Amino acid sequence: MKTGDWLKKYNIYLKKSLGQNFLATEVYAKKIVQKSGITNEDTVIEIGPGAGTLTEALAKTGAKIFAFEIDQRLNPLLVERFQNYNNVNIQFIDFLKADLSNFEKPKYVANIPYYITSPILEKIFLETPDFQLATLMVQKEYGDRMLARSGKNYSPLSIFVQFFCNVEKLITVPPHAFIPNPKIDSVVIKLTPKENIPDIDKNKFFKFIHIAFSQRRKTIKNNLKQLFGDKTEEILKKCNIDSKTRPENITIDQFINLFIISKSYNK
Ligand code: SAM
Repeated sequence: MKTGDWLKKYNIYLKKSLGQNFLATEVYAKKIVQKSGITNEDTVIEIGPGAGTLTEALAKTGAKIFAFEIDQRLNPLLVERFQNYNNVNIQFIDFLKADLSNFEKPKYVANIPYYITSPILEKIFLETPDFQLATLMVQKEYGDRMLARSGKNYSPLSIFVQFFCNVEKLITVPPHAFIPNPKIDSVVIKLTPKENIPDIDKNKFFKFIHIAFSQRRKTIKNNLKQLFGDKTEEILKKCNIDSKTRPENITIDQFINLFIISKSYNK
């Protein structure tokens, strides 16, 4: 049965406020699962199963699926849809409030509600630091920022994500793949945690990055002046960074080096 038929059967209208754009058929769900390489050995967390189209494609792999859905109205539909699967566990709670402490090396596969993309990413990174993979459908613009290595889409978000993970675009999903059709394209992004991440104070580093990007059209020297005053030029020179460079043209490795070297200049 297609998503539209399930929704009709249970008389469910979709809510924009919950980011409810459901996959209309199993076509993209299957692609997402296949490109994520999910097997029956995996434990998969899904955020927002909706009418269960992606969930069912995941369940067919034999993996253990734990799905978190905030909308109680979907309960009877999902109960019927998964009555013959014993590897699907659905909890009706806000994912952002879910206790993830019992999960070991989970994989995330989800078409997430776009209005909470950043809090979801933070929760994944902070509460399940041993996660193996996160395949997430996000708005194209958001995906472009996750992927950018320089230029107009390069931002603190790019640095945050790429600091922890290798980032890869799997597919673009057009508006007609959803009910209702969104106005924008979506992309499926695969995040794989890096093995060796630099041993630095992450909170301080990300605060530093936000300051470095505080006025992105200005030079790095201008932005860092608020931290290092008249020492800014000297610090940049030590790092071989031209003081007229804009933050969007500084690589992550350069930022890490800059952060480490600048530490001895902090008041
Ligand atoms: N996975 C389904 C699909 O691909 O067809 C639905 C995806 S839809 C973009 C996002 C889903 O997340 C909706 O079912 C929505 O109700 C649910 N959702 C929204 N906010 C949530 C939250 N805080 N916690 C858990 N689920 C949430």
